[in-house]
Amino acid sequence: MKTYLITGGAGFIGSNYIRYMLKNHKDIFIINVDKLTYAGNTDNLTGALINDANYKFYCCDICDKDKIEEIFRTHKIDYVVNFAAESHVDRSMTNTKEFIETNITGTVNLMNVARKAWEIRDNEYIDGVRFLHISTDEVYGSCTECCTEESPLNPHNPYSCSKAAAEFYVKCYWDAYRFPVNITRSSNNYGPNQYPEKLIPLMIHNTMENLKLPVYGDGMQMRDWIYVEDNCSAIDLVLHEGQPGEVYNIATEKKYHNRFVVDKILTYIKGEVREDMIRHVQDRKASDLCYSINTRKIREKLGWSPSVDFDKGLDKTIEWYLDNRNWIHKSLLGGEKVRP
Ligand code: NAD
Repeated sequence: MKTYLITGGAGFIGSNYIRYMLKNHKDIFIINVDKLTYAGNTDNLTGALINDANYKFYCCDICDKDKIEEIFRTHKIDYVVNFAAESHVDRSMTNTKEFIETNITGTVNLMNVARKAWEIRDNEYIDGVRFLHISTDEVYGSCTECCTEESPLNPHNPYSCSKAAAEFYVKCYWDAYRFPVNITRSSNNYGPNQYPEKLIPLMIHNTMENLKLPVYGDGMQMRDWIYVEDNCSAIDLVLHEGQPGEVYNIATEKKYHNRFVVDKILTYIKGEVREDMIRHVQDRKASDLCYSINTRKIREKLGWSPSVDFDKGLDKTIEWYLDNRNWIHKSLLGGEKVRP
């Protein structure tokens, strides 16, 4: 039985990943380490798939060296997947310190403890500890040409700077110690369990509540949207079959501008789009107009491809939020709003 330590597993992608793993692998044990910030929600991890024999939760900060060491002493961990992060760009503009602490210091702390466990287990990096760090396409900054894994990093906001800085540390643990790491850089995810401050769940929430939809600037920012389960299948492949030390982009390579997405949500729920349903707000400073990444490497080397097209994925996501109004209300009680 293999043991997976998942950090940030009570958040959006982490909780979907835990469910994906328990659905698709037999005989695995998942340890979820999450600090439960406003974005973490243990309700994301209830139900038939999860039980005491395959899952254990620790409420713990990845910066807490003693507690992380204790978890590694208590369990023989085979894989670490580091989702834990402060993840919202707007919050990073006003609360940069927390982003540095969790996204950089926390990642290095976790990696140090994992590396020690790996060294004790004789450096066998096929069956020893493997470390997968979850990063983002935002580290490339705004680009219209598709960025490959070799493109320079050019982050423009405190969130993406902290993610880029963490990546340099992760990569250097392979270069300096041959500690078997991988990094994934995925595009924007959407799907169930996403805290309603990010574009898609926020717009669904506001539409459901008859509130105006806040659109940054002219809404022409282009994003590549990936359904969260497709990202989970890519992460699963990289973790088990990725070349140690390598970075993999994950995306659909189809882009839509924000206003297109907003209009689709309004049309699905309200059956119409009227300008008085929209509230244009000033765009972020140093806003990235377009994220665009090339996924040839993961497609050709690992045989991955996304399976959910945007129309279907968005409909499924809207349905989930319509069916889970209580989840939204409960989540919002836990966190202060930051979007204008
Ligand atoms: P999220 O904000 O929904 O969840 C983050 C989780 O991390 C929460 O459960 C939170 O409680 C936990 N956490 C925060 N600080 C912690 C700490 N110090 N110790 C332990 N746990 C802590 O984020 P998400 O959207 O699920 O993103 C997960 C990862 O994927 C992040 O690393 C993010 O940078 C990356 N990513 C996200 C997207 C996206 O579109 N959401 C795209 C690309 C990459």
